[in-house]
Amino acid sequence: MPYRQYLRTPEWRRTRAAALHRAGNRCAFDVTHATDLEVHHRTYERLGEELAGDLLVLCRECHRIHHAHHGRPRRSHARSSRRRRTEAALRDLGLRLAAVTVLVAALVGMLDR
Ligand SMILES: [Zn+2]
Ligand SMILES: [Zn+2]
Repeated sequence: MPYRQYLRTPEWRRTRAAALHRAGNRCAFDVTHATDLEVHHRTYERLGEELAGDLLVLCRECHRIHHAHHGRPRRSHARSSRRRRTEAALRDLGLRLAAVTVLVAALVGMLDR
């Protein structure tokens, strides 16, 4: 389901209301901000079954500033999955290097004998 469409579902309305309630109907960046509250997704990974920690209650102004600094979540999500792939590739490379090191050590050991 497209994100825009999801935001119109009763499920999201419930999730959003619960997040606002948990936050005491206050902006997470400044408790004196209590109007124009919006619920920001820190991640889209669990869309439709968000954990409490996936959401952040922000007033419209802080929400705007937050996105100005951090970009849209969709983009940061793409960035993080790219980082995961890079980390996996580096881990793979590390394992191969370890294998080569063991092989070289074995060869050196054979030459010593
Ligand atoms: Zn947001
Ligand atoms: Zn605020």
